[in-house]
Amino acid sequence: MNKEAKLILNSLRCPLCNSQIDLIDWFSLLNKKYKEHNFGCVVNPEHYSIYFNHWEDPPKIENERVIVYDELNQYNIDQNTFIIGHPWIKSTIKVSKVDKENRVLDNIKPKTYTFEIQLFDFKSVNRNKIINKVKTVLIFQ
Ligand SMILES: [Zn+2]
Repeated sequence: MNKEAKLILNSLRCPLCNSQIDLIDWFSLLNKKYKEHNFGCVVNPEHYSIYFNHWEDPPKIENERVIVYDELNQYNIDQNTFIIGHPWIKSTIKVSKVDKENRVLDNIKPKTYTFEIQLFDFKSVNRNKIINKVKTVLIFQ
């Protein structure tokens, strides 16, 4: 990985637990949840994972995903800024009902909301800010 890509990677932190971001290990990648991403939170890539196109000049974070929970829901927030090197801004929030152990309830259909904007700067938010913003944004849907 080149120097610029390393600097970008080292500047990233998980917005949920503030851990570093590193390659997602093969065991986690076997879990199909992460198949579109190559880097993620070292504690748990479910917190924050990205598709980092580090071999291009300049390197680009093409996609970021954060999964957060409140008492009732899982919010799967997926943000695109590039697709295969080309600018493509899109955010989606997928809301799934969960049980007390944060297991997604399969019998209730998730709802997906799409936005043609970048909803978050994940560098400047934490878990509470993310959940508050998601709730605010979804009121208007
Ligand atoms: Zn984390």
